[in-house]
Amino acid sequence: MIKILPFGDIDTADIKALCDNLPFKTEIADRIEIPEKAYDSERNQYLAEYFIEEAKRFDGRVLGVTDVDLYTYGLNFIFGEAEMNGRIAVISIFRLRNGKKTFVERMVKEAVHEIGHTIGLIHCQNPLCVMHFSNCLTDTDIKNAWYCPKCERLVKSEIEGLMK
Ligand SMILES: [Zn+2]
Ligand SMILES: [Zn+2]
Repeated sequence: MIKILPFGDIDTADIKALCDNLPFKTEIADRIEIPEKAYDSERNQYLAEYFIEEAKRFDGRVLGVTDVDLYTYGLNFIFGEAEMNGRIAVISIFRLRNGKKTFVERMVKEAVHEIGHTIGLIHCQNPLCVMHFSNCLTDTDIKNAWYCPKCERLVKSEIEGLMK
Protein backbone atom coordinates (compact mmCIF):
# COMPACT_ATOMS: atom_id res chain seq x y z
CA MET A 1 0.00 0.00 0.00
CA ILE A 2 1.30 3.43 -0.94
CA LYS A 3 -0.07 6.46 0.85
CA ILE A 4 -0.56 9.28 -1.64
CA LEU A 5 -0.06 12.59 0.14
CA PRO A 6 -1.36 15.70 -1.66
CA PHE A 7 0.53 18.93 -0.87
CA GLY A 8 -1.11 22.36 -1.03
CA ASP A 9 -3.62 23.15 -3.73
CA ILE A 10 -2.93 20.28 -6.04
CA ASP A 11 -6.01 19.33 -8.05
CA THR A 12 -7.93 16.37 -6.59
CA ALA A 13 -8.64 15.16 -10.14
CA ASP A 14 -4.88 14.85 -10.78
CA ILE A 15 -4.40 12.85 -7.59
CA LYS A 16 -7.26 10.57 -8.57
CA ALA A 17 -5.89 10.09 -12.11
CA LEU A 18 -2.54 9.13 -10.61
CA CYS A 19 -4.07 6.55 -8.26
CA ASP A 20 -6.29 5.11 -11.00
CA ASN A 21 -3.33 4.65 -13.34
CA LEU A 22 -0.68 3.44 -10.91
CA PRO A 23 -0.26 -0.33 -10.85
CA PHE A 24 0.24 -0.14 -7.08
CA LYS A 25 -2.30 -0.27 -4.26
CA THR A 26 -2.85 3.26 -3.00
CA GLU A 27 -4.79 5.22 -0.44
CA ILE A 28 -5.16 8.98 -0.47
CA ALA A 29 -4.28 10.90 2.70
CA ASP A 30 -5.75 14.29 3.61
CA ARG A 31 -3.90 17.13 1.94
CA ILE A 32 -1.28 19.02 3.94
CA GLU A 33 0.27 22.46 3.58
CA ILE A 34 3.34 23.05 1.48
CA PRO A 35 6.27 23.50 3.91
CA GLU A 36 6.85 27.27 3.99
CA LYS A 37 10.56 27.00 4.62
CA ALA A 38 10.97 25.00 1.40
CA TYR A 39 10.37 28.13 -0.68
CA ASP A 40 13.39 29.90 -2.14
CA SER A 41 12.27 33.35 -3.29
CA GLU A 42 15.36 33.93 -5.45
CA ARG A 43 14.78 30.76 -7.45
CA ASN A 44 10.99 30.85 -7.09
CA GLN A 45 11.23 27.11 -6.42
CA TYR A 46 10.86 24.73 -3.51
CA LEU A 47 13.50 22.48 -1.96
CA ALA A 48 12.36 18.86 -2.22
CA GLU A 49 14.04 17.74 1.02
CA TYR A 50 11.49 19.63 3.12
CA PHE A 51 8.63 17.79 1.44
CA ILE A 52 10.33 14.50 2.31
CA GLU A 53 10.71 15.66 5.91
CA GLU A 54 7.03 16.61 6.16
CA ALA A 55 5.92 13.29 4.69
CA LYS A 56 7.89 11.43 7.37
CA ARG A 57 5.16 12.30 9.86
CA PHE A 58 3.03 9.66 8.14
CA ASP A 59 3.55 5.90 8.52
CA GLY A 60 4.24 3.42 5.81
CA ARG A 61 5.34 4.08 2.26
CA VAL A 62 4.39 7.64 1.29
CA LEU A 63 4.36 9.38 -2.09
CA GLY A 64 3.95 13.15 -1.77
CA VAL A 65 2.55 14.93 -4.81
CA THR A 66 2.86 18.65 -5.40
CA ASP A 67 2.16 21.09 -8.22
CA VAL A 68 4.97 23.50 -7.28
CA ASP A 69 8.40 23.45 -8.93
CA LEU A 70 10.94 21.39 -6.99
CA TYR A 71 14.72 21.60 -6.92
CA THR A 72 17.52 20.04 -4.97
CA TYR A 73 21.13 20.97 -4.34
CA GLY A 74 23.12 21.11 -7.58
CA LEU A 75 20.18 20.73 -9.98
CA ASN A 76 18.09 23.37 -11.74
CA PHE A 77 14.92 21.42 -11.10
CA ILE A 78 13.79 17.88 -10.39
CA PHE A 79 10.71 15.89 -11.29
CA GLY A 80 10.90 14.07 -7.98
CA GLU A 81 13.05 12.81 -5.16
CA ALA A 82 13.05 9.78 -2.89
CA GLU A 83 14.78 8.20 0.05
CA MET A 84 16.92 5.38 -1.26
CA ASN A 85 15.79 2.17 0.43
CA GLY A 86 13.44 4.23 2.54
CA ARG A 87 9.74 5.00 2.80
CA ILE A 88 9.28 8.46 1.36
CA ALA A 89 9.14 9.86 -2.16
CA VAL A 90 7.81 13.08 -3.64
CA ILE A 91 6.96 14.07 -7.19
CA SER A 92 6.09 17.40 -8.77
CA ILE A 93 3.65 17.70 -11.64
CA PHE A 94 4.72 21.31 -12.31
CA ARG A 95 6.66 20.52 -15.49
CA LEU A 96 4.58 17.60 -16.79
CA ARG A 97 1.64 19.32 -18.47
CA ASN A 98 1.07 18.69 -22.15
CA GLY A 99 -2.29 17.19 -23.08
CA LYS A 100 -4.25 15.05 -20.64
CA LYS A 101 -3.05 11.59 -21.70
CA THR A 102 0.63 12.50 -21.83
CA PHE A 103 0.34 14.35 -18.53
CA VAL A 104 -1.09 11.35 -16.68
CA GLU A 105 1.49 9.02 -18.25
CA ARG A 106 4.33 11.30 -17.14
CA MET A 107 2.93 11.56 -13.63
CA VAL A 108 2.70 7.76 -13.38
CA LYS A 109 6.26 7.33 -14.71
CA GLU A 110 7.69 9.76 -12.17
CA ALA A 111 5.76 8.03 -9.37
CA VAL A 112 6.90 4.53 -10.42
CA HIS A 113 10.48 5.88 -10.70
CA GLU A 114 10.57 7.44 -7.23
CA ILE A 115 8.87 4.43 -5.66
CA GLY A 116 11.59 2.36 -7.35
CA HIS A 117 14.19 4.30 -5.36
CA THR A 118 12.34 3.68 -2.09
CA ILE A 119 12.57 -0.06 -2.75
CA GLY A 120 16.28 0.21 -3.51
CA LEU A 121 16.63 0.67 -7.27
CA ILE A 122 19.29 3.02 -8.58
CA HIS A 123 19.28 4.75 -11.97
CA CYS A 124 19.32 2.39 -14.95
CA GLN A 125 21.29 2.90 -18.18
CA ASN A 126 18.44 1.50 -20.30
CA PRO A 127 16.64 4.57 -21.76
CA LEU A 128 13.38 2.62 -21.92
CA CYS A 129 13.47 1.66 -18.24
CA VAL A 130 11.40 3.76 -15.87
CA MET A 131 14.50 3.97 -13.62
CA HIS A 132 16.42 5.87 -16.32
CA PHE A 133 17.15 9.38 -15.08
CA SER A 134 15.00 12.06 -16.74
CA ASN A 135 16.90 15.25 -17.48
CA CYS A 136 14.02 16.55 -19.53
CA LEU A 137 10.54 15.57 -20.62
CA THR A 138 11.85 13.90 -23.77
CA ASP A 139 13.61 11.38 -21.51
CA THR A 140 10.40 10.87 -19.59
CA ASP A 141 8.34 10.42 -22.75
CA ILE A 142 10.76 7.89 -24.25
CA LYS A 143 10.82 5.58 -21.28
CA ASN A 144 8.23 2.97 -20.37
CA ALA A 145 6.09 3.29 -17.28
CA TRP A 146 7.64 0.15 -15.82
CA TYR A 147 10.97 -1.36 -14.73
CA CYS A 148 13.13 -3.13 -17.33
CA PRO A 149 13.48 -6.90 -16.76
CA LYS A 150 16.89 -6.41 -15.10
CA CYS A 151 15.59 -3.87 -12.56
CA GLU A 152 12.37 -5.79 -12.05
CA ARG A 153 14.28 -8.95 -11.13
CA LEU A 154 16.23 -7.10 -8.44
CA VAL A 155 13.14 -6.01 -6.53
CA LYS A 156 10.60 -8.62 -7.61
CA SER A 157 9.26 -9.41 -4.15
CA GLU A 158 9.05 -5.74 -3.10
CA ILE A 159 7.09 -4.91 -6.27
CA GLU A 160 4.75 -7.84 -5.78
CA GLY A 161 3.99 -6.63 -2.28
CA LEU A 162 2.88 -3.26 -3.64
CA MET A 163 0.82 -4.36 -6.65
CA LYS A 164 -2.94 -3.89 -6.96
ZN1 LIG B 1 15.83 8.96 -9.79
ZN1 LIG C 1 16.20 -0.83 -15.57
